[in-house]
Amino acid sequence: MRRGILFLLCAMLFAGLIPGGNPAHARALDLQAHMCVGGAESASEALDLASDRLDCGDGRFAERDRFVRTHAELPADFEQGEDELLWQTDPANFERMILRFTYAGGEQRTIEFGPETAGRNWFAMGRFSVRVPTTGQPLREVDMVVEQPKTYSVARAARLVESGAAQQEHFTRSLVYALMCGFLILPIVYDLLLARFLPFRFMLWHAVMTAFLLGSVVSNSGLVYQLFPDLPLGVRSHLNTTTLALALVAAVGFLLDILEKGTVPTRLARAAIGLTGLMILAKVLTFVEIESLRIVSHELFLYSLVPLTAALIAIIAVALARKSRAAGFLAIAFSGLIITGFLRILIGSGLYRPSFLLDDFLLAAMVVLVLGSAAAVGDRFTVLRVERDRARVSAIKLGRMAMSDPLTGLGNRRAFNSLRHIEDGQAMLVADIDHFKAINDTNGHVMGDAVLCHMSSLMRDSFGDVPDSTIYRLGGEEFAVVFRCDDEEKLRQAGEKLRDSIDRKMASNSYGIPPATISVGGALGGGRSVTEVFQEADQALYSAKQAGRNRCAVKCYGSSPIVVDFRPRGVGT
Ligand code: GH3
Ligand code: MG
Ligand code: MG
Repeated sequence: MRRGILFLLCAMLFAGLIPGGNPAHARALDLQAHMCVGGAESASEALDLASDRLDCGDGRFAERDRFVRTHAELPADFEQGEDELLWQTDPANFERMILRFTYAGGEQRTIEFGPETAGRNWFAMGRFSVRVPTTGQPLREVDMVVEQPKTYSVARAARLVESGAAQQEHFTRSLVYALMCGFLILPIVYDLLLARFLPFRFMLWHAVMTAFLLGSVVSNSGLVYQLFPDLPLGVRSHLNTTTLALALVAAVGFLLDILEKGTVPTRLARAAIGLTGLMILAKVLTFVEIESLRIVSHELFLYSLVPLTAALIAIIAVALARKSRAAGFLAIAFSGLIITGFLRILIGSGLYRPSFLLDDFLLAAMVVLVLGSAAAVGDRFTVLRVERDRARVSAIKLGRMAMSDPLTGLGNRRAFNSLRHIEDGQAMLVADIDHFKAINDTNGHVMGDAVLCHMSSLMRDSFGDVPDSTIYRLGGEEFAVVFRCDDEEKLRQAGEKLRDSIDRKMASNSYGIPPATISVGGALGGGRSVTEVFQEADQALYSAKQAGRNRCAVKCYGSSPIVVDFRPRGVGT
């Protein structure tokens, strides 16, 4: 387990070091800061909007028109290098896009394309590219008209970047994403391997959560186009959020399942499940193709994450307060995602503009989530396994106690009755101490017990090397032995050997235990019920008693009435 965690740590370090050693210094200009936004009901109307009808303020992305127009004037200090320029943005789904580039001197070039172009020209980090036409004049303005954007990120994320820098960044990021995917596969393998030994539900939730996070990285990064080059942009857009939504469903399941019993208040658990349902409902709404819901449904989905996150934080906090061990790991695991959520809200409300990419932060958060939750899984697995092993040991002990005789440690009557059948190839001997009442009366009950104990150990010795033999104390001073034996002669010899060894060893013991003898009766099993075989052996025993005790009698198979073979003391073996 510890090795697994160490392995994950190394993989994370690796994923972090490679991009760290080779930073991508893309010469890029984010256009959002220079952007004014407007809207119209047709493409040409949107493209011709006068600059005084464009909104350059904070609320400029709140438009709801079918065609969204953005206009960005490049800053005066923007210098274009030798490399050709690429225009890039986030490939959120849209119907159609027009880009108009205006150069010094007033020359303009217009490019029009559909979502399939975005799918084809993707760059790692979820961007697609359009080459900025070269005219020999420096670029001054970029206008964009986008029809039916599903989210405004397609307009907001627009930037200009030099082609060489973009290629380098694409390469580095592809490497990071590929490593990230490899890293996310590890916990899934780890969960499934552990689940083979002990299938706890939280491990499956964890594997499902990690699998959807993996799907989210593959889709968001654009790696999905490596697997499915013709994937429509709309499907990828949905894939981004659907994988996230499903990862969250699994995260809620995981959280509620892994936390120890009694550490999550039922109401809070129900609230989290309810909010997860609402989040899924909001996600389903984004699939509905209704114009009035186009932007709202995507926003609703994002807003639905806020109360859900709050519920998850509350669950972890309460569990921590209730001294949950797993909650400590989970607090660390979810911290990155929670901080990312807050940052997104702060950025969305314009209160904070980070100097790093939130996507990078999100990747780091996923690493923390997967590592922390894998540690929680490992820890909980160990705790539960120890608890389960203890319960199993005590169950075994109880089971043994229920089946064994407390005085002699032999199997008891219950164990004997549980046999049901005495197989063909097995036989039964029943032994009863002769005149035991008199031994008790003469030497006392305690000495009587000592006789029973010593006799039990002598019987064990006598059958120590007989395969598949079990000795039972049926009650009082009566014993039974079931062992492998398929022949009447061998059965008679075994019974006689037992009788003889008890007779000799009890007479010569050095513990001060009074001598005692036994009478023995035997019968072959023949696959009959234990009751039937016992009755025959008991009848043989009765005959041995009748014949004067300290005798062995065997019921010869198939004869009727009982044929007994008396072996008086000292006669034959
Ligand atoms: P027989 O040769 O016919 O078997 O005579 P017996 O005296 O052995 O048979 P009986 O059934 O008359 O007596 C059995 C005695 O075993 C009676 C009872 O007090 C004694 N006994 C039963 N269980 C125990 C026990 O756990 N410890 C001791 N010390 N005595 C026991
Ligand atoms: Mg007796
Ligand atoms: Mg008896």
